[in-house]
Amino acid sequence: MATPAPKRRIVLLGATGSIGESTLRVIAAHRDRLELVGIAANGRYQRLAEIAREFNVKHVAVFDDNSFLAAKSADIFPRGTQLHGGVAGLTTIATLAEADTVLVAVVGTAGLKPALAAIAAKKTLALASKELLVLAGKFVMAAAREHGVRLLPVDSEHNAVFQCLEGHHASDVRRLVLTASGGAFRDWPLEKLSSVRVADALKHPNWSMGPKITVDSATLANKGLELIEAQWLFGLRAEQCQAVLHTQSIVHCLVEFRDGSMLAQLCPPSMTFPIQHALLYPDRAPCPTDDPLNLEKKFSLDFRPVEAARYPLLGLAQAAMAAGGVAPAVFNAANEVAVAEFIAGRLPFLAISRVVEQSLAGMKNFEPTTLDEVLQADAEARRLAHQNLFSPASFSR
Ligand code: NAD
Ligand code: MG
Repeated sequence: MATPAPKRRIVLLGATGSIGESTLRVIAAHRDRLELVGIAANGRYQRLAEIAREFNVKHVAVFDDNSFLAAKSADIFPRGTQLHGGVAGLTTIATLAEADTVLVAVVGTAGLKPALAAIAAKKTLALASKELLVLAGKFVMAAAREHGVRLLPVDSEHNAVFQCLEGHHASDVRRLVLTASGGAFRDWPLEKLSSVRVADALKHPNWSMGPKITVDSATLANKGLELIEAQWLFGLRAEQCQAVLHTQSIVHCLVEFRDGSMLAQLCPPSMTFPIQHALLYPDRAPCPTDDPLNLEKKFSLDFRPVEAARYPLLGLAQAAMAAGGVAPAVFNAANEVAVAEFIAGRLPFLAISRVVEQSLAGMKNFEPTTLDEVLQADAEARRLAHQNLFSPASFSR
C-alpha cells in the first residue's frame, strides 16, 4: 500500500478575512492533507481564538498593539497557544520551523516583511496579497529566485494563468488576458457615478470579498493591480498583460500563444478553487467546498472590451505598469489611501482616480535599486495622496 503524502503545514496570514475564511474551509475539507500551524490577523483576536481551537493551532500573531495586549489578557486561547505581536510576531509565525507553506492574505502591503522572511526561510509562498508584488515585485521575485522558493498564485486570475502555462514555454506566450467582472457599476449610466454611495460600491455582482478589493473591483483598480502582479509572476512585458470584461466571472484568464491558440481556465466564482489548487499543488483532489460548473444548465459566456471612460484607474495602472520604476508602487499607495477615505465616507467615489492621478503626476519616477527606496517612495506617495485628498480638484468632476 502506498504511504500517504505527508501533510502540508500551513501558516495563514490574514486568517480572519475573506480569503482567510475561504482558506479555513479548504483546510477543514482536506484535514488528511493540510494542517494549520500558525495564524495571524490585524485584530479580531476572538475569532483567532475560535480558529486556534477548531484547528488546534499553537502559534497566533496579532498585528495591532492594542488587540495584541487585549488578546494576551483575555483568557480565551487554548492552553499552550503562543501569542505573538506586531510585525515581528507576523515574521515569527511566517518562519516557523514546523511550517512549509505560508499563505499571505493580508489586505494591502503589511504582509511584505513577513512574506520576505518566509521566502528567506525557504517556505513555499502562496500569494493572495497582490499589493505586495505591485509594491515590490522586483525584490520579492529576486528573493524567491535567490532562495529557490516557489510562488503559488492564489488570486483567481493568476492561479488560472499558472494552470494554463503548465507544460508550456514562457517564450511561446503572446499575451495574457485577465478577465474582469466590471464590478458594481458596470451597467450604471456614467452620469450616475457621481452619486455612488459606499454601500453601492461594496455590493459586488459575482464575488464575496473584503471591502478594499470590492471597491477596487468597482473602479477596476483591482484589475490594474492584477496586470502588474501578472507581469511579475510570469515575467512578461507590460503590453503582454491585458484585461477584458467578462460579466459571468467563470473564465478567469485567457492565455494566447504565438500560434494564435488560446487556453482558458474556467470554474465558478469562488476562491476555494484557486486556494485549494495552490495548497494541494501539484496534486488535485475533489473540491468538497463548492459545486463545479453545471453544464446541464444553460449558461453563456460573454466578453467585451473595457470601457476606458468608466474605469480611469485601469488606464492609470496600465500607464504606471508601462512606466515601471516606482510608478506601480505610487499607484498602489495612493489608491490604498483614497479607497480607505472613500470607505470611511470622506471622499467621493469619482475622486479616487483623481487622487491617484495627482499623486502619480506629483512624484518623480525612478528605477529603485533597494527595497528601502521602494518603501520610501511608498511612504512619500501616501503623504502626497493625503495632501491630494484635500485638493479642490479631487472634489470636482
Ligand atoms: P479582508 O479585508 O477580508 O481581510 C484582510 C485580512 O488581513 C484580515 O484577516 C485582517 O485582519 C488582515 N490584516 C490587515 N492588516 C493586517 C496587518 N497589518 N497584519 C496582519 N493582518 C492584517 O481582505 P480579503 O478580501 O481577504 O483580501 C486579502 C488579500 O487577498 C488582498 O490583498 C486582496 O487583494 C487579495 N485577494 C482577495 C480576494 C478575495 O476574493 N477576497 C481575491 C483575490 C485576491
Ligand atoms: Mg483576482
